[in-house]
Amino acid sequence: MLLNPELVQRVRDAVQRDRLIDTAIRLIEVPSPTRSGGAVADRLAHMLIADGFAVERPVCGWPQAPAVAARYSTGRPGKTLQFNGHLDTVHLPFVPPRVENGVLFGSGASDMKGGLAAAYEAMRAVRDAGLLSGGGILLTGHDLHESPWGDGTQVDRLIEAGYLGDGVLLPEYVSDRLPVAGRGLAIMEITISRPGVPQHEVLGGMEQPNVIAAGADIVRRCGEWDRQVRHKSHPLAGRESVFIGQAVGGEIYNQSPVEYRVSGTRRWLAGTPFTEIEGEFKALVGEVAHETGTTINGKLNFVRDGFELDLSHPLVAAFQSAHAAVTGQTLPHGPKPFVDDGNTFIARGGVPAITHGPNATGAHTLHEAASIDELVRVAVVYALTAIGFCRA
Ligand SMILES: [Zn+2]
Repeated sequence: MLLNPELVQRVRDAVQRDRLIDTAIRLIEVPSPTRSGGAVADRLAHMLIADGFAVERPVCGWPQAPAVAARYSTGRPGKTLQFNGHLDTVHLPFVPPRVENGVLFGSGASDMKGGLAAAYEAMRAVRDAGLLSGGGILLTGHDLHESPWGDGTQVDRLIEAGYLGDGVLLPEYVSDRLPVAGRGLAIMEITISRPGVPQHEVLGGMEQPNVIAAGADIVRRCGEWDRQVRHKSHPLAGRESVFIGQAVGGEIYNQSPVEYRVSGTRRWLAGTPFTEIEGEFKALVGEVAHETGTTINGKLNFVRDGFELDLSHPLVAAFQSAHAAVTGQTLPHGPKPFVDDGNTFIARGGVPAITHGPNATGAHTLHEAASIDELVRVAVVYALTAIGFCRA
């Protein structure tokens, strides 16, 4: 791929630092805790329309905040590179935007309105400077990302509705590695109960179905399940697991309680279908309920699927060339430190997705901070990736 210094300089010249900052501030200044992303989605859509992009608002199962999909097409043959970001932030007190000493602060500065503004600027830059020889760019923004308030379903619906590029970049706050694999995650919430009221041990309590013993059996069986799956391991993503982090119940030493709760996680690697995991979980819970005479409500809440990036895909080469052109080196392979929508694009969309954004700090705190230099760097890397990837 030809990423000569003149081309890199043209991209650097086309990326406008002040415009990028302005976009980031305008996104951050609209508070958008997960499930309340409507106003910021409207703001993003209006900005894109004012910038001359074709904008759609697919509802994708969430009428409170329809998603945003903006396209730039060269009108010539080629591939579509998608930039995707979530517009929602975690539920913490709102911090308004400000820029100080070259650093952007505020709710979402790191996670991930800063990165999304950088991606937006990359799309403007390649259009304004006519840098794509073919294909185009699709920019998507959505709500319902952050757990536990969001369940990731709006991005699921976006993909199902066809708002999907040939490759995806996600400007989340990971910049020191190419995330090549990651585990899927589901949260187990198990409630064991029996009919009736709490009873003294010697006044009938000892004859009741024992919810604590049933809970202990669940914990023991989860341990066995963990031993069965632990051999499934990836050198970077780690091993499959079943983990119990909480087990609570009972009020006093000689009383039979009516409820006991167990919760934990199930993590798995790409290639293990979630339906199979769900089946095993249901069987485990059902057997314990049957054997102990208790009623068990077992929930296995899917968060994100496991993924493995296809390293032979042209998107990887285009991205690494762009990164090397900007920073002097390609990124080493590594695990993804969190689960994000990139997992979904790979597992559900069947397209390669690379999570790469600013080296920003303070995600999920009141002290989010992203350096403007980093946001500009991300915009340049995104624009150069598009130039390399989208050509016919
Ligand atoms: Zn995020």
